[in-house]
Amino acid sequence: MPPPNSGCSTTSHTKGFITDELVYHKPNGERRFSLDRATIAATTGPRSITILRGDLEAVLYEKVRDHAEIRFGATLTTVDQDEHTVRVTLTDGTTQEGDLLIGADGLHSATRALLFGPEEDFLLDLEHKVAVYMLDKRPATVATGATGTLSSGGRTAAVISIPDGRNVAFFGYRASHARPGEDVATELQRVYGDLGWIIPEALAGLQRAESVYFDTISQVVAASWSKGRVVLLGDAAWCVTLFAGYGSSLAVGGADRLGTELAAHPGDVPAALAAWEAAIRPEAERKQKLGRRVKGVYAPTSPLLLWLSLLPLRLAALPPVRRYMTRRFIKG
Ligand SMILES: Cc1cc2nc3c(=O)[nH]c(=O)nc-3n(C[C@H](O)[C@H](O)[C@H](O)COP(=O)(O)OP(=O)(O)OC[C@H]3O[C@@H](n4cnc5c(N)ncnc54)[C@H](O)[C@@H]3O)c2cc1C
Repeated sequence: MPPPNSGCSTTSHTKGFITDELVYHKPNGERRFSLDRATIAATTGPRSITILRGDLEAVLYEKVRDHAEIRFGATLTTVDQDEHTVRVTLTDGTTQEGDLLIGADGLHSATRALLFGPEEDFLLDLEHKVAVYMLDKRPATVATGATGTLSSGGRTAAVISIPDGRNVAFFGYRASHARPGEDVATELQRVYGDLGWIIPEALAGLQRAESVYFDTISQVVAASWSKGRVVLLGDAAWCVTLFAGYGSSLAVGGADRLGTELAAHPGDVPAALAAWEAAIRPEAERKQKLGRRVKGVYAPTSPLLLWLSLLPLRLAALPPVRRYMTRRFIKG
């Protein structure tokens, strides 16, 4: 795995943030409507925090670095196991053996490919793509700490200004995967090039970005998450996608529960894995269903669908609805 992308030594509490204002724009940049901080907090609920994926990775890394051996830049090339032990060979030429191999290596898991079968047997294509990268400059029309977003013709784009001064560009759009892939800059330009507002500025920022996340949006559907002494965890096993949210919570919660079940079944890895999968699978499948439902309203194709998809948020912005949600979710 590559090293975490920020050398932060802080906790998820100091890296987490709530957007001050969420502004929905028209393609020409005019404001449609906005949600203030209190409304956003009321809609997401008191237990929700926003944290960049790289920051979360860095926070977790800080917690484990003194207790676990971590080798960056190495991946596994072979796995073999018997009733008692599992052995892996790594790309750095070394071998390792242990009681259990946990493949927490994400949507395109190498562990899954080696042990369970080719990726295409597991990925359910949700017919969208996503590109995310850091911007070196905040567009002037997005206030510090605010998020500006627009949706038009099957495309959604957002710029998220984080209170600590960093800025994120986010593009999510409908895409036919039958179409041959292009490089990210060409593809984003083709898909978003006709839009105004801050889109040209955000697209130009890609040239200066250190890295970009660019991928199809796909769920992972696997009938079983373990084979003997090898188990898949997180996106590698059950990716729910960003449509559902909850992917990080499920990954971290799934890891925690795995530890609990291993402790509860000392010396019996198969029993621990069976108990673990029975506990996690219903929730993962519920979130996958949610993801498939939300896919249709994520980047609506027509103005009517867009209006309908934004209606709940417009209602949430009304003071009586907001007061109700605050009572129900924040103080309740
Ligand atoms: C654009 C976007 C927005 C999202 N928004 C949300 C959200 O709002 N809320 C939410 O809860 N979730 C969200 N998610 C989902 C969330 O990011 C994932 O569900 C979560 O990161 C899954 O964690 P994971 O550890 O299973 O996999 P990952 O976070 O993908 O981590 C996998 C790790 O394995 C490493 N790795 C990969 N291949 C190998 C290999 N061959 N050998 C060794 N290491 C390897 C990778 O470098 C990485 O460190 C979003 C995802 C995306 C893409």
